[in-house]
Amino acid sequence: MRKPEVLSPAGNLEKLKFAVDFGADAVYLGGKLFNLRAKAGNFTIDEMAEGIDYAHSRGVKVYITLNAFARNSDFKAVEEFVDAVKTLSPDAFIVSDLGVLKTVKERAPEIDVHISTQANTTNYRAVEVYKSLGASRVVLARELSIPEIREIKERVPDMELEVFVHGAMCMAYSGRCLLSNYLSHRESNKGACSQSCRWKYYVVEETRPGEFYPIEEDESGTYIFNSKDLCALPVLDELIDAGVDSLKIEGRVKSAYYVAVTTSVYRRAVDLILSDREAFRKELPHLLEELEKVSHRPYTLGFLKGGNEVLQHYETSSYIRNYKFLGIFKNGLWQVRNKVRVGDEVEIFTPSAECLRLKVQGIRVLKKGKPVDSDSANPNQQAVISFDREVEIPEKAILRRKEVTEPVAV
Ligand code: SF4
Repeated sequence: MRKPEVLSPAGNLEKLKFAVDFGADAVYLGGKLFNLRAKAGNFTIDEMAEGIDYAHSRGVKVYITLNAFARNSDFKAVEEFVDAVKTLSPDAFIVSDLGVLKTVKERAPEIDVHISTQANTTNYRAVEVYKSLGASRVVLARELSIPEIREIKERVPDMELEVFVHGAMCMAYSGRCLLSNYLSHRESNKGACSQSCRWKYYVVEETRPGEFYPIEEDESGTYIFNSKDLCALPVLDELIDAGVDSLKIEGRVKSAYYVAVTTSVYRRAVDLILSDREAFRKELPHLLEELEKVSHRPYTLGFLKGGNEVLQHYETSSYIRNYKFLGIFKNGLWQVRNKVRVGDEVEIFTPSAECLRLKVQGIRVLKKGKPVDSDSANPNQQAVISFDREVEIPEKAILRRKEVTEPVAV
């Protein structure tokens, strides 16, 4: 059986390195223009060059998003962008717009083209058309079920298929939505979505401005458009059996910690499925537990099993965030991101998705190159940390602490 790739989001250079270090086979990222995550930080051409070099030297592919819908006036900039980026030899451009596809094929024929999920590809005939236009991969619409995906693969076996397996979903058809454009003048199909679907809505009668009538589905009010987050881990083996070539994790605006945990969980799951199905089923509860430790809304299988479950989350649009990222272990030292104190009950999460529970026993903070005893370490400090038992800490391990916090509004 062919091994599908784990494809992770890289919102900036740091997140790209986390994705690569935690097991991604490929990453996707955007430049400062023409991608669908205006808030993701994104890459200058120089950062892109560094990111591609970092990934390629470790055998990881890089796909560049160019998936905003272009207007006539955009093409000069699209051409300049393609000309500049192709010199860096990325592995593919991800496009949605047929005009952009044509431009990429003309100006960079040596680079693969993937059709973005924004193109809403839901059937094998559409996949055939994209194949005839020179695309090598289609990112299918999130609305498809596993049998539909399998049938597409059977009918067009030489087209690579990519599916989303994890992360936020739109309530609209794969992002074909103008809520944000109307309500906040931020164009969702140009990467500036204000996530208006997550807001809380009231009814106002026109002669009574300022009088808000709650729409009450239950005591929490209503968030009628607020989709749960996708988590396909429980059916990952079925997706692989259906012939999917690439398993995509959403979240270019999420934290480096989110990228690390989700990437290593899906990496571990794919490796287990390919080597030992029984071991995958056995480890699944642990892997699902790890996915509960990153920022997320309640999870759903989305449409993969036919879409009969409730996909909206009606209670609140807030994220569940119950772990704090404290630091990462590099070259024998903890690079501290959030305050760590002696006595803290912590967890160490390793790049192979293991989780160790420990207590901080001692902290020595590096001051002018020398370790100095301290009862805590602060953000941006480097520290040597000892725990209540001896453990071997692998390079790039993550330190985190459970925190019960109020849900964080989007
Ligand atoms: S408002 Fe919501 S549904 Fe619409 S594009 Fe933005 S995230 Fe998607």
